[in-house]
Amino acid sequence: MQDVVEKVYEQVVARNRGEAEFHQAVREVLESLGPVISKHPHYAEDGLLERIVEPERQIMFRVPWVDDAGAVHVNRGFRIEFNSALGPYKGGLRFHPSVNAGIIKFLGFEQIFKNALTGQGIGGGKGGSDFDPHGRSDAEVMRFCQSFMTELSRHIGPNTDVPAGDIGVGGREIGYLFGQYKRLRNSYDAGVLTGKGLAWGGSLARTEATGYGTVLFAQSMLATKGDSLEGKKIAVSGAGNVAIYAIEKAQQLGAKPITFSDSSGYVVDEAGVDLELLKQVKEVERGRVADYVARRPGARLVTEGRPWDVPVDVALPCATQNELDADSAASLLRNGCAVVAEGANMPCTPEAIEAFQAAGILYAPGKASNAGGVATSALEMEQNAGRTRWDFATAEAKLTGIMADIHDSCVEAAETYGRPGDYVLGANAAGFTRVADVMIAHGIV
Ligand code: GLU
Repeated sequence: MQDVVEKVYEQVVARNRGEAEFHQAVREVLESLGPVISKHPHYAEDGLLERIVEPERQIMFRVPWVDDAGAVHVNRGFRIEFNSALGPYKGGLRFHPSVNAGIIKFLGFEQIFKNALTGQGIGGGKGGSDFDPHGRSDAEVMRFCQSFMTELSRHIGPNTDVPAGDIGVGGREIGYLFGQYKRLRNSYDAGVLTGKGLAWGGSLARTEATGYGTVLFAQSMLATKGDSLEGKKIAVSGAGNVAIYAIEKAQQLGAKPITFSDSSGYVVDEAGVDLELLKQVKEVERGRVADYVARRPGARLVTEGRPWDVPVDVALPCATQNELDADSAASLLRNGCAVVAEGANMPCTPEAIEAFQAAGILYAPGKASNAGGVATSALEMEQNAGRTRWDFATAEAKLTGIMADIHDSCVEAAETYGRPGDYVLGANAAGFTRVADVMIAHGIV
């Protein structure tokens, strides 16, 4: 790291003690900025770097709720409004027991540059709670969401901050959150949340967008080598929204995804994933991956480890942060894997990324490859503002165009700053300069 960025990093560590994931996300971006600042030293002036690593606003609140048996629970709610240079804060809400300030801050920080890469005029934010929706009834989830929104509602708005889903927050939760927001504000502000149901302001293709976009990005990377996904074996992790629709798009492009996973283990289905069955188990029944194996002859469940030991050509980590470490990277490389595109946020550890880059394989960081989700959220906001609704083909065509543009921006920035093919540098440099230029235009705020 250059001296000037090293100093900023040390300050971040000192002021945000114990927030390891936030430190990791900041480090990855700052490490890329050496060549950018050498070429354009003004980016290190006027405290710009110090400002960009400091959230504009951090909200933390109590979320009390009553379970079906009458017992009172107290969770913690967060919303980090990180950067509004490019537009209203935009980013999902995560409901998972692992959620804390450091996790939300890392996600919010990533979101700034991801959203900038989409070119759509959205700032960066993130929120969530340590609430665990697993095993909770619909009524419990509803009461939690209502309590959460009772506080959050005073901080958000269609031109201020627009939350959406992330891990543990899907259509059901967005519905309860929207219902409570509308009631509290007495205002049908469809554009205050994205990921809404189709009957009340949602966008076609939003559900599919993150997974589809990740696969489209992998396809674009392969195209730079004159190759494609056709006939490639793929390991996917996760079994949520991102993983399911990554599998769907990969199958449409003639590839063969053979794994997926959840916290109970991973499934290997050498015949290729039966997508209808997977959707039935995860989307309809809210079941576990073992329920898939029980109904799918030939598929096996592995309860130890992660799917990265399975020999494949392409890996799509679509579960959660730091799920693919140095050992997993070594095993993927040993087995000849030549493409890694992140569907989740920061799923590869720094050591894994280093191994991929040293081996010279195609590696896409999530802030570029998983930006299709938030990009389609911005398309949803656009439809809400125009009181209109596009058909699936229109929304998907826009998503496809945005992913191609993001890919090309990364390639171009990597070349400009002297490291062709380095998508980490490309994504960070392209995202950073877009935000930084506008922050400079807005003065010291
Ligand atoms: N949570 C998603 C992400 O990580 C989507 C955010 C959104 O749609 O606002 O980008």
